[in-house]
Amino acid sequence: METYQEFDGIVLSIRKHREKDALVKIFTREHGKRMFFVKNIKNPNHSLKAALLPFTKATYLGRIKDDGLSFLQDSREIIHFSKMQTDIHLNAYATYLNNLADAAINDAIKAADLFDLLEESLVAMQNGMDAEIVVNIFEMRVLKYFGAAPQLQECVICHSKQEPFDFSVKYSGALCQKHYGEDPRRSHASPAAVHFARIFQLVTPKQVGNIKIKPATKQALRAFIDELYEEYVGIRLKSKSFIDQMFAWETKVEIPFRSVAEPEPNKPSESGQSDSSSS
Ligand SMILES: [Zn+2]
Repeated sequence: METYQEFDGIVLSIRKHREKDALVKIFTREHGKRMFFVKNIKNPNHSLKAALLPFTKATYLGRIKDDGLSFLQDSREIIHFSKMQTDIHLNAYATYLNNLADAAINDAIKAADLFDLLEESLVAMQNGMDAEIVVNIFEMRVLKYFGAAPQLQECVICHSKQEPFDFSVKYSGALCQKHYGEDPRRSHASPAAVHFARIFQLVTPKQVGNIKIKPATKQALRAFIDELYEEYVGIRLKSKSFIDQMFAWETKVEIPFRSVAEPEPNKPSESGQSDSSSS
């Protein structure tokens, strides 16, 4: 007898497998990340098609296998985070969050609170919350899954909670103004950036709501979290590099987007070269 189980899941990635099949990585709330084999996904009448789009959450019925690939049978309560599919920025941010969640835990490790954080972050972005702030909160909270726990809540020397704070890699935590001298190589981080990073360690996107942060502070916060990631995480995700590039060129020039419907200008065909190299 096959035993099927019901579980909640968020689609992390979809990879074509052979001609018609797919390997879909789903972060399940109950069983951690699992790879599912989906047969004939290209079939337009495939019953699971809607449940296996990128940026989708659903309740799935399937067979979880501890050795090898798992299988899906059915789905219900499908939620599409549709803005991630139409907005290039949200797409980039949500892809990064998926990749971070993917990198933070090994397969088959149950991590319901990380699942809940990812779901809440995607919902917040879908509902129009500032995506940069959602990303920053997610980054600060996911640090512990990478084994990093910088102490930002109080000065590591005197335990004072009195801001302003700077950050010390040497002590792996915050230094109050009185103890800046303890680490000559302290980060010289923006006190406002450390302030928000402290808060973001403790809250979820829902709890923060529609907080407004000045562009300059956001930039400083971005730089500070990048420093923490360089120090403690040390992975370089392609989706993060893409976001950095997106920022770099958007702050330089206003590039007009060409709509998808607009025809490509005629390009000289390159196909004439084929087969001419053999001699
Ligand atoms: Zn101190």
